Amino acid sequence: MSYNFGPGPAVLPRCVVEEAGQSLLSSEVGLSILEVSHRGDAYQEVHEAALARCRRLYGVPDRMAIGFVQGGASLQFAMVAQNLLRQGRSADYVNTGSWSKKAIVEVGRLGKDHRVAGTSEADNFNHIPAELDLDPEAEYVHITTNNTIFGTQYSQLPDTGAVPLAADMSSDLLSGPVKWDGVGLAYGGAQKNAGVAGLTVVFVDRDLLARESDSTPTILRYSTHVEANSLFNTPPVFAIYIFGLVLKWMESAGGLAGVAQTNRRKAELVYNALDELSEFYVGHAQRDSRSLMNVTFNLRDASLTEAFCAAALERDMVGLKGHRSVGGVRASIYNAMPVEGCQVLADFMRDFARQHG
Ligand code: PMP
Repeated sequence: MSYNFGPGPAVLPRCVVEEAGQSLLSSEVGLSILEVSHRGDAYQEVHEAALARCRRLYGVPDRMAIGFVQGGASLQFAMVAQNLLRQGRSADYVNTGSWSKKAIVEVGRLGKDHRVAGTSEADNFNHIPAELDLDPEAEYVHITTNNTIFGTQYSQLPDTGAVPLAADMSSDLLSGPVKWDGVGLAYGGAQKNAGVAGLTVVFVDRDLLARESDSTPTILRYSTHVEANSLFNTPPVFAIYIFGLVLKWMESAGGLAGVAQTNRRKAELVYNALDELSEFYVGHAQRDSRSLMNVTFNLRDASLTEAFCAAALERDMVGLKGHRSVGGVRASIYNAMPVEGCQVLADFMRDFARQHG
């Protein structure tokens, strides 16, 4: 049994892989869900069920539409600015890491006014800025709810008053309940917490659709996807099918409250080991900004990092190598990582420190 701590695409619930595999092979040749029209009854049922289940499970309010689009969160960096930021207006961005920066690059490329309302760059993004310098007239405030590379996460969404939040939730999508009150737009790929690559789930306040300009190409308009119920063009049918199965699994795991509780427990196991062995390991994130999804740390003796990852691999733990901008180790412990995986990692951290400390 391997434990996959990779940052994404990531581990899937075993039951989802089994059900998908069986369903594809047991269908008549040429008639599996992957081989039929996206306008036919069989696929329609999958599509509608995934949308409905997502709304129910995530408590998405009626004022928000749910869209299934392609192009990843990376396309959303451009779509957010293209659709929600009108000429002559400005948007605020909070810079909490590499992905936030990429979003800021895209608004710049579109030649639109924007400000950086907060940043933790001077501290190599080891925390979520507590104070923001917000423009009350901004079109939106863009944040990255979980910083996959640096291992920091908002413990709660910032209060931006009447200005809607636009949230990149790529690496904590559906990992726990969301307070939707201040959110105007949110998006994230399914491939970390909720399925496989190819599907980006977008949540958009219907009132914001009116901001779009005539010059926006059809496929890049949120309104196109909302009005066509995410069937304007051929959707990523396999990714949506898997998304539906993962949502069903989440329902059986106690809904999002249950999933969140398990995620907290998992993170605690790893952070406890880290804190206990602080003479050997050093966490990257400040305590109050710690991510429940990506635990980032260095070995105090960096020359042991390679040996750590190699020894972990021998115990069937894969994907632990940290991103080059932080170095060291990153354990991604998304929804489908079982509690046992985190226990095995924590035990290994103790053993390794004992042997090399
Ligand atoms: N934002 C964050 C926080 C991410 O972690 C990622 C992917 N790792 C992205 C954006 C980019 O997502 P995609 O590859 O789906 O475009």
